[in-house]
Amino acid sequence: MKSTSGNAGGAQKKKMHGYVGFSNYPNQIHRRSVKNGFNFTLMVVGESGIGKSTLINTLFDSKIFSDREELPPNADPIKGVDITSMSADIQENGVKLRLTVVDTPGFGDSINNEDAWQPILENIESRFDAYLAQENRVNRSKISDNRIDAVIYFVKPTGHCLRAIDIEFMKRLHTKVNLVPIVAKADTLTAKELEQFKTKLLADINYHGIQIFKPVSDEFDDAETVADNRSILSKIPFAVIGSEKFVERPDGTSVRGRSYPWGIIEVESEEHNDFMKLRQMLLRTHMEELKDSTDIVLYENYRTQKLLSMGHVQDNGVFREYNPVVQIEEDRRAHEAKMNKMEGEMTAVFQQKVQEKESKLKQSEEELYARHKEMKTVLEKQRSELDEKKRRAEATVRPTTPMEQQTTKGKKKNIFSGF
Ligand code: GDP
Repeated sequence: MKSTSGNAGGAQKKKMHGYVGFSNYPNQIHRRSVKNGFNFTLMVVGESGIGKSTLINTLFDSKIFSDREELPPNADPIKGVDITSMSADIQENGVKLRLTVVDTPGFGDSINNEDAWQPILENIESRFDAYLAQENRVNRSKISDNRIDAVIYFVKPTGHCLRAIDIEFMKRLHTKVNLVPIVAKADTLTAKELEQFKTKLLADINYHGIQIFKPVSDEFDDAETVADNRSILSKIPFAVIGSEKFVERPDGTSVRGRSYPWGIIEVESEEHNDFMKLRQMLLRTHMEELKDSTDIVLYENYRTQKLLSMGHVQDNGVFREYNPVVQIEEDRRAHEAKMNKMEGEMTAVFQQKVQEKESKLKQSEEELYARHKEMKTVLEKQRSELDEKKRRAEATVRPTTPMEQQTTKGKKKNIFSGF
């Protein structure tokens, strides 16, 4: 059929002469979003004491994690990884956010951390499964989305390369979740050490082919977004500090930070650490991208693999217009292909059977020949034995010559002469 459109998309560009209102659509979305609020699910992974709860409380400027009891130094090492989650409804400028933070206590705390990634991967996949099950329900009006939108992975500020546990974790999970690796407690390294450490981490991440979440710009982005993305990208992996306390600056003002004998380190200073860039990416500029990436890329891949493994077949024709003539032709072709396939299978089975019969016949022929050969050998042996016996028997009954007869008679005489 000939297309009536002037471009490849199938629609003509028309000039409008007045305002009709659809340009307000983004505002409608905005209003609805503000009314309904958002969900955001973050997972934090890192050994205990690395600063997970402090960072989350700092990020959201609220006590999401309440004070945890610190383990005594001589406590037994924790066995295995636990998964716990807590939700909080927070509001900023009238916009509601249902934040869920999933914690993974015990990760990296055991003596053997080889499989520490496993319960976390299982938890992420079970959330995908739960979503898939809801999607497949007849009534899909209320789907609750508990999928993890991002994992903040806390890298210990060792100054060396990534540890085996870090590499294993990221390699196992990078195709299932948006990974945001961060250098924790960045204030424990000098600026130079930190710079070198970040370079090493990035090199390790690239070397092991680990995908981490990075903002990408495309042709539709404005200059400001492109610049924002570039400056976020330049700080990855973010080296951050967290603090729930406020400290006093020399000028008397109070800031969130950590105090040291040599001075203070400010959480929200871009010169001191990358906390602001991390917060910008997670909450201010890329939250929707993280959610989209989870939904469109990571979940979609998981779903496809899962359905294929369950025996579902990809149907590329779902979105085509229904045309009965085309449909009948397609059905006929499908039937023909099915018949051809069956015929092919039957021929193959027949050929296989013939081959089997042939090889069986050949085998019994060979067996017969071998038996015949064996019997022939036995018979030949028997024959030569008989020939030998015959020869010997003939030799014993051979008729005597007249001379021999004379000698025998003489001997006989002599015998009787003795009586
Ligand atoms: P979690 O077990 O991973 O949740 O760790 P916490 O957040 O409870 O932090 C453990 C300890 O590290 C606490 O004493 C925090 O004050 C401290 N801490 C947290 N973040 C930082 C940081 O960025 N730098 C430094 N030096 N200490 C931190």
